[in-house]
Amino acid sequence: MSKFFSDKYAALTPYVPGEQPKDAQYIKLNTNESPFAPPLSVVQAATAEAGKLQLYSDPECTPLIEHAAKTWQVKKTQVIATNGSDEVLNFAFMAFCDKNHPIVFPDITYGFYSVFAQLNGIPYETIPSKEDFSVDYRQYVGIGKNIVIANPNAPTGLALSRAQIEEIVRSNPDNVVIVDEAYVDFGGESCVPLIDKYDNLLVTQTFSKSRSLAGGRLGVGFGCESLIADLNTLRFSTNPYNVNRMTMAAGCAALCEEEYFREKCADIMRTRAYTTRALKELGFEVLDSKTNFVFAQTDKITGEELYKQLKARGVLVRHFKGGRIENFNRITIGTKEQMDVFLQKVKEILEENEV
Ligand code: PMP
Repeated sequence: MSKFFSDKYAALTPYVPGEQPKDAQYIKLNTNESPFAPPLSVVQAATAEAGKLQLYSDPECTPLIEHAAKTWQVKKTQVIATNGSDEVLNFAFMAFCDKNHPIVFPDITYGFYSVFAQLNGIPYETIPSKEDFSVDYRQYVGIGKNIVIANPNAPTGLALSRAQIEEIVRSNPDNVVIVDEAYVDFGGESCVPLIDKYDNLLVTQTFSKSRSLAGGRLGVGFGCESLIADLNTLRFSTNPYNVNRMTMAAGCAALCEEEYFREKCADIMRTRAYTTRALKELGFEVLDSKTNFVFAQTDKITGEELYKQLKARGVLVRHFKGGRIENFNRITIGTKEQMDVFLQKVKEILEENEV
């Protein structure tokens, strides 16, 4: 830390992204990326924009907002586009939370929420998940504080129903409920259809997972007009060109390829069922995932040891140190071929550890 670093950030613990090693060819099942490249139309749309990079991108994100409004069947004024959904989440923390408006979220969830809270000097509380790692939605009903819930949740993969989320939103009319739907396209129920009914609901989604654009950095937020206007105030006060030209074009093209992405999501869900079955046969407990990853543990080997031994064999999964999830690993669902290699390595490791 330099002597110039502001005191207000002295205690900040930054988010730790999944490792992106450059030293070997790994099967990467650690950052919930799509194993599928975007379709050619998306690549071509992005490439065509590269020749115009001397010009700023459209700060209103006009074509993208129009496409998104059509796709999600909302008004253009009910959508915001951001640099990944991490950015819209940060804007929401900045816009709706402060010392007098704390935020609550489950204890086992996306690690960035506590970072956004710390970064913005927002007090936060975590609510313990149940023994089976599910979120007890009743604990949020009428809580009278701002709330952020990943639905489906990460890293557990478990989902609440739309009716359960609606009960949380309905019972906290004076607080903002942020529903982070980064993984919703893999079997969750979206709350976007509720934004006309509740002025305290903000739903965020990403193009990083189901639309194969993690490297493009594109997220979207949906809410009533006034919530979106607040988020835009922050966007224009930080970086009005937050979505670059190539990503904006790629995002528009991606929304014209819904059939392609639906098929890829269906493929991932089939491979998820296959992987879950195979892991259970090997003696793992696997949580019921509605995402593009599974969260699994076994009493045959510790989570950390399995992570290390898989890495040594060229397969990366995500292990979170400490607490109730110490023995688990989060395994991104790749192609069937990648999962077969992963399962084979797991089998070998378990056999070697038995003797
Ligand atoms: N929410 C959750 C629950 C996530 O796991 C992620 C991915 N790390 C994000 C939001 C942010 O994704 P992105 O910024 O790529 O849209």
